[in-house]
Amino acid sequence: MTRRFDGDRLLVATHNQGKMDEIAALLAPYTVSVTSAKDHELPEPVEDGTTFVDNARIKAHAAAKATGMIALSDDSGIEIDALDGAPGVFTADWAETPNGRDFVMAMTKTHDMLEAANAPFPRTARFCCTLVMAWPDGHDEVFTGVLSGQVVWPMRGQQGHGYDPIFQPDGYNITLGQMDQAQKNQLSHRADAFKKLMAACFA
Ligand code: IMP
Repeated sequence: MTRRFDGDRLLVATHNQGKMDEIAALLAPYTVSVTSAKDHELPEPVEDGTTFVDNARIKAHAAAKATGMIALSDDSGIEIDALDGAPGVFTADWAETPNGRDFVMAMTKTHDMLEAANAPFPRTARFCCTLVMAWPDGHDEVFTGVLSGQVVWPMRGQQGHGYDPIFQPDGYNITLGQMDQAQKNQLSHRADAFKKLMAACFA
């Protein structure tokens, strides 16, 4: 049976400020106070899983164990059909530099690889999100969400985070980077997974 959220504070196990802002807004309608992995100065665990679920579990269980709190993690990324699903679980890695993450570089690499592959249009892709809520006793609940669309070029929009400026959701002629947070939070992969989490554990 699904376990319901039975605490008064939820630890969001992410160091990614863009994700944290979206998650805080998605949780705003619920009476739960939220703290982040950063607030607790938790180290970032090594994400050596091969799936979004593996990596989300690693992050949520590490945070729940370290703090004794119920912890929620998000592992997400973009799968591009013409690149056989890449970057997938390596989405954040494509942005790594010795000086931190550079998403303009990662988006440029994505476009360059699509050009090199002579990928046809539309360059279909999907954002995937896995949420794991983990309890200190080792129990967890897993929820997934998807947003289908296409990779476009050049980058458009200054809002959002990560790869938002090159992702145009199906049914829209603007990118996620051109949407404000409220609009993105109506349709995103994260919002899709959140709806399922809320219905199962918070309703
Ligand atoms: P991870 O889940 O921390 O391994 O990182 C996922 C990576 O996927 C992020 O660093 C972003 O680059 C990308 N990503 C996940 N969700 C989004 C989104 O909503 N918009 C844009 N990029 C995203």
